[in-house]
Formats: sequence, structure tokens, C-alpha cells
Amino acid sequence: MKSDRTPVADPVHSFWTSVSNPLDDLLSTDDLSTEADIVIIGAGFAGVATAYNILTSSSSSPKQSVLILDARKICFGATGRNGGHVKPDLYFNVSKYVSMDGASAAAEVTNFEAANVYAVKELVEAEKLDCDLHLTRAIDVYLGADHARQTEAAWEMLRRDNIVELRDVACVSKEDAERVSGVKGAQLAVSFTAAHLWPRKMVHQLLAKLLEQDHKLNVQANTPVTSVSDTTDEAGRWIIETSRGTIKATKVIHATNGYASQVLPEYTRSITPIRGVCSHIDSALKQHAPHLNNTYALRFDGRNYDYLIPRADGSIIVGGARQRFWHKPERWFDTVRNDELVDEATTYFDGYMQRHFRGWEDTQAQTKKVWTGSKYRSLLPMRN
Ligand SMILES: Cc1cc2nc3c(=O)[nH]c(=O)nc-3n(C[C@H](O)[C@H](O)[C@H](O)COP(=O)(O)OP(=O)(O)OC[C@H]3O[C@@H](n4cnc5c(N)ncnc54)[C@H](O)[C@@H]3O)c2cc1C
Repeated sequence: MKSDRTPVADPVHSFWTSVSNPLDDLLSTDDLSTEADIVIIGAGFAGVATAYNILTSSSSSPKQSVLILDARKICFGATGRNGGHVKPDLYFNVSKYVSMDGASAAAEVTNFEAANVYAVKELVEAEKLDCDLHLTRAIDVYLGADHARQTEAAWEMLRRDNIVELRDVACVSKEDAERVSGVKGAQLAVSFTAAHLWPRKMVHQLLAKLLEQDHKLNVQANTPVTSVSDTTDEAGRWIIETSRGTIKATKVIHATNGYASQVLPEYTRSITPIRGVCSHIDSALKQHAPHLNNTYALRFDGRNYDYLIPRADGSIIVGGARQRFWHKPERWFDTVRNDELVDEATTYFDGYMQRHFRGWEDTQAQTKKVWTGSKYRSLLPMRN
């Protein structure tokens, strides 16, 4: 059932994409080049970070020409619609990784995740990106008694077996969990270093820096790639067909997230687009609300959880609500539609802060926006 609340009025935009950017519809040149050394398909986090690494790497000399193509506006995929949480997994899935791939692989993945938080911070500082980056702690709050007990037992095993680095991970048991986390009914709270930022600002600004630096970079928004040849031509180049013409390139990088199989049908069974839901909550009385310094995951049980990112302006991003629609796969599975709401989830965030957070009862916090995003799901286990 649709309500007439603000979130429904504009299903196309997320909180982040509501602010337009001059790069949104960028065409570096009026005409599409017919060749490039490297073509990157997709201008989200993955595509722009790849271009950044190629173009700023001292080893890629002489400089190669890079052409980024996006089917839509720049950063209108998952990068423009996510929560902005830079959250490593330092413990939650570790036992699963150990049983799948062994202790050393689990440790490698965990170290990589931990290092990524600081790598993002270093990049933002080095490139002077103004993207609301905050280094913080993430608190995973367990609300189900059984799940909390199982997690605490698993945590004790991780400590005993000394498989991964746990120096930065702190576990607060039931007795103090609600007071320490501020979440009502908390049975267990686990915290560790994380960060949050405005993802779209970060990517736009990184792209703007590359364009300013006069690299051999050309960016073409609103240019869908319709196919890439299966083999190269006699000069070793791939043939890329787009809505605006044909391009030849020696390397093609697919950074298309859940859309991957539209150009690479061989991935249809292994990369499936799925939808997620996010919201923005604000309060006219936020000066009376306790300011939350940490980010959160509220884990209701082993499957269902929300994640919450308090912004420095006192408003809150909350993503999740999957218990409202997960049992209806047609609403979220195998769809790239991010321009419509998952109606079942729209009212989920109403009263969220009042329900879950101590001291927020009288803040009149309200859902200001709800949106949908599409991301990929692979055959690998789901991450939380
Ligand atoms: C609701 C939601 C919340 C999330 N929250 C978080 C979070 O808090 N923290 C976190 O770390 N991650 C989060 N994620 C995941 C995160 O957003 C993604 O992992 C990340 O943005 C992926 O970046 P990307 O560049 O791979 O994909 P995208 O940003 O989706 O970019 C892919 C691009 O490829 C383009 N494209 C696709 N096909 C073609 C084609 N044929 N031709 C040309 N262009 C094409 C698309 O238009 C798109 O711009 C969330 C995702 C969603 C959906």
C-alpha cells in the first residue's frame, strides 16, 4: 500500500543523489571516441577507483588512454544509493571463512577489511576529498538472546584459537550492552573501528581530480554498452558496441556490479542483482536527541539486521528492513529496478529511532526519504 508521505514522492532519488552534480551527465567530448587503450564499463566506486589506480600508478608509463562509459548518470547505481558505511568484518563471518577456506585465508580477508578503512581515510585525506568522512566505531548490537549467546561463544572461540587479529574488537556482555550502546533491549554489543562518508561526493570528486590532472581520461555518461565481442580483432582489440557507436580497446574492465550479466551473459547464474532499501531520518527536535557517535548494526536474529549511520548534522541513515520483503523474492531478487520503492519497506523506518534508541522517544524523528538500490549477489556467502 502506498502512503502519501515524502519518501514516496520521489522514488528515483536517494538522499545522496537528491543533490545534483555537474559531472552527472558528463560527456568529456561531444563525440564518442572510436578507440581507447582501456575501456571501463561503469562509473561507480569500482569503475572510478580502477581508473584512479591506473592513471595515477607510476608503473603505467607511457600513460594509457582510459574511457569510462556509464549507461546512466555518473554514480546513480549502488554507489549513489548505499548507506555510506565503511565497515570491515573483523569477526562476524570469520568462522564461516575458516570452515570454507581455512584459517590463513580467513585471516587474510579480515586483515584486508581492517586495512580498507584506513586506506579510504588515507585516500580522502591525500586527495583532499570533501565527502563527510568520519572515522568512528561500529557497534553491532544483538537483540535476540539466543543469537547473542551464540555470537559470544563464537567470539570466545576466535579469541582462544587466535586466528584473526582482535585487538580492535571489543565485546560488551548483556549486563552493560544496553547502557553502552544506547540501544533498547541490547543483549550483546561488539564494537570496532569503522568509518562513514558521502559515497557519491567521494567518487565525483575523485573523478573531477583525475579530469583536472589532464590524464588521458574521457568519461561518457548515459552511454550503455550493449555488447563486447567474444574475441579480439587482428590487432588484439575488443569490439565494444554502445548506444552511440563502436569502440575498439585493448583492455575492457567490467565494473557493472549487479548489471554484469547484461553484457556478460555467462555470469547470469553466478551474479544476480538484488535490491536493498535505505532511508534518511531527521528530527526537528534533534537538539534534544542524544547525538550518536558510533555507527550501528541492529541484529534481530541470525538473518535480519539493519545498519545505521548517524550523520554529523544529527540526521540518520538507516538501511535494511529486509524482514518486510525477503519472503517475496519477486520484490528483490534478480531485478535492477532502483527507480521504484519496495512498498512493503516504506513504513518500516517510521518511529525507528524512538523504538530502538534510548533518549529518542520525544524527538519527533521522522522518515524523510526511503529509496531502493540494486547490488550484486554472488554465489559466495552473503556479507552483513
Ligand atoms: C541499498 C544499498 C545499501 C548499501 N549500503 C552499503 C554500505 O553502507 N556500505 C558499503 O560498503 N556498501 C554498501 N552497499 C554496497 C555498495 O553500494 C556497492 O558495493 C558499491 O557501490 C558497488 O560499486 P560498483 O561501482 O561496483 O557498482 P555501481 O555503483 O552499481 O556501479 C555500476 C555502474 O555500472 C553501470 N553499468 C551497468 N551496466 C552497464 C552497461 N551495460 N553499460 C554502461 N554502464 C553500465 C551502472 O549504470 C552503474 O553506474 C549498499 C548497496 C545498496 C544497494
